Amino acid sequence: MKARINEVFDSIQGEGLYLGEKQIFVRFFNCNLSCAYCDTKLDQFTEYEPKELFEEIKLYRDKYHSISFTGGEPLLYADFLEEIIKLTSGHGHKHYLETNGTLFSELEQLIDCIDIIAMDLKFPSSTGMGKLWQMHRKFLKIASRKEVFLKAIICQATYEEDLREALAIIREISPASVLVLQPNNYENQSVLHEKLLNFRQIANQQGVTACIIPQIHKIVGLR
Ligand code: SF4
Repeated sequence: MKARINEVFDSIQGEGLYLGEKQIFVRFFNCNLSCAYCDTKLDQFTEYEPKELFEEIKLYRDKYHSISFTGGEPLLYADFLEEIIKLTSGHGHKHYLETNGTLFSELEQLIDCIDIIAMDLKFPSSTGMGKLWQMHRKFLKIASRKEVFLKAIICQATYEEDLREALAIIREISPASVLVLQPNNYENQSVLHEKLLNFRQIANQQGVTACIIPQIHKIVGLR
């Protein structure tokens, strides 16, 4: 069994609730979505067997918070993930999954061996794609059996009605989960500022804890 992997490296987590934690990153190649704001350049890959990836991970000897499986969309490689997690589990690593929150059957397969899930909520007005709410709903139901927080990219084009739809899903399925509002890095931040504050206030009024966290790694030039 092989997976296409774009890169393996260590760095500091640059977004979400684990901002600043040191992680080993495994970036999988390919994605099942095509968000308008996507800046993940996946133009090359190396094919790995699970044991080959395990040997590479073992080369990272510092103290790490966790292994971050990211992409692209890592759940496109669910069988491979199952195997690599079996190998790394005995070595003191937590397993952190960064996912677009759509492949719920694959998550079901893996949920018992994932520790933390950073799940995107794709707002149609931000992504330029169709509605993914039903997939997000099913995904969050499974994810809520573990530690999960949510992330949504906020753009100038983002509609308040998308935020309200997302808040309804969080309230219904996983009310204790935090929603991270992440400004689109490529837009004017001062214009987005007011919208972000307004969205955070609406979330808090609806009983959902929301915070504004930009992608720090892009601001300070980390990978
Ligand atoms: S889910 Fe992530 S990797 Fe996939 S297209 Fe959207 S932003 Fe890019």
